[in-house]
Amino acid sequence: MTEQPAADTLLKRITAYQWPALDKPHLTYADIAAELKTLAERDRITLTHIGNSFQGQPIHRLSIGQGPLTLLAWTQMHGDEPTATAAMLDLLAMLSEPACDDIISDNWLSQVTLHIIVMLNPDGALQQRRENAQGIDINRDARALQTPEGRLLEQQVRELHPDVGFNLHDQSRYYAVGGSKKPATLSFLAPPFNASGDVDGSRLRAKQLIAGMYEAVSHFRPGQFGRYNDTYAHRCFGDTIAGCGVSTILIESGADYHDPNRQNARALNVVALYAALNACITQRYRQYTLDDYYAIAENVENGLCDVLLKNVTQENEAGDRFYCDIAVNETQPGHATVFATGDLTELGGFREIDCNGLILCNAKGFCTKSGDAVTHEHYQELLSQGYNHIVSQENRGDIATDIPVLQCQTPLPDKTGPLPDTPAFFVFRDDETPCCALLSTHWLTF
Ligand SMILES: [Zn+2]
Repeated sequence: MTEQPAADTLLKRITAYQWPALDKPHLTYADIAAELKTLAERDRITLTHIGNSFQGQPIHRLSIGQGPLTLLAWTQMHGDEPTATAAMLDLLAMLSEPACDDIISDNWLSQVTLHIIVMLNPDGALQQRRENAQGIDINRDARALQTPEGRLLEQQVRELHPDVGFNLHDQSRYYAVGGSKKPATLSFLAPPFNASGDVDGSRLRAKQLIAGMYEAVSHFRPGQFGRYNDTYAHRCFGDTIAGCGVSTILIESGADYHDPNRQNARALNVVALYAALNACITQRYRQYTLDDYYAIAENVENGLCDVLLKNVTQENEAGDRFYCDIAVNETQPGHATVFATGDLTELGGFREIDCNGLILCNAKGFCTKSGDAVTHEHYQELLSQGYNHIVSQENRGDIATDIPVLQCQTPLPDKTGPLPDTPAFFVFRDDETPCCALLSTHWLTF
């Protein structure tokens, strides 16, 4: 057993082996075809066409090693969750290089066989959606097996009898680590195989491996890793495969600050898989206990928002004041709405703005007729006069600004407060003078 290189050296090496073309918000089969071909040409790697999707796209398995210990990972069962697909191709790029054996051990190929099914749901990937082409969530099809992709995964598990399984997904960017208000850049779970949440030998090993992976990744992003709770999900693959005696590990890639393509989660997936591979070979996972696993903080769903406005002052018609926080989420690209209002001290924001002393202006619409030109300068002038939306009979595509604009057919009522699900377009004043605005997720001072 060679000593593992220091964590920073490992990260540097992972970055050096990443496929540059896969730094994208979405991945389809066409995006990974060249990388699959390149990997298939490497001596150590076998590419197997294991079947086709509902619409006939190929689904491949990449395998490395000939050892008795069998590991099986599968990625992108949900078409719009591509992070681990890139990560597993990066991992194989490294593992296929003899120069990288120092990270594991010289003879690791005779101890382990690692199989990776990359992009189990290419049809969903093509449409950038969760479900397959039948509209079925493959991860709720573990019992009914009505999808060709689900049947393929079930067949692979039956044929390969893996000791350890890695179920690799992406989670909502609003998951926070409990108690920290930080994003959960990776989340882990050793899914239960029955409703009573029993822990047998396989599940214990999954939890021990997770404790080791958690320790490995925590070096890079302290406090940014969470754990899902143990709720049993009968129809899901993780829970079902865990019931077959496989030590099953769910890893959900999540967000990080200033990381829209989840490249941090991508690299950390490789760190985690390396740690697991090493721990399996050396059996070092045995040093971890259930307490180590449960010491990982639980995730909080919607524990984060995109923009958090803190301590906003509002005034009623009599001039009485009250205070609130406003959370805003970009629900569609370029379109943000209010997520929540009130005391949001338990929420974190990817961006937090202290609005102490700023008073929310009433909604105020500027009426335009078609043919009236609205320039960038004019729009800024309108904002500085307290207008937060533009009123026009038809949708105007001729407003010449790159700042988000809220267009309405009729003026919004004066007291359109920050109600949930309403567009996030607010002008704030300092005493009497408008001085700044939140326009979708765009903060502007003037
Ligand atoms: Zn998923």
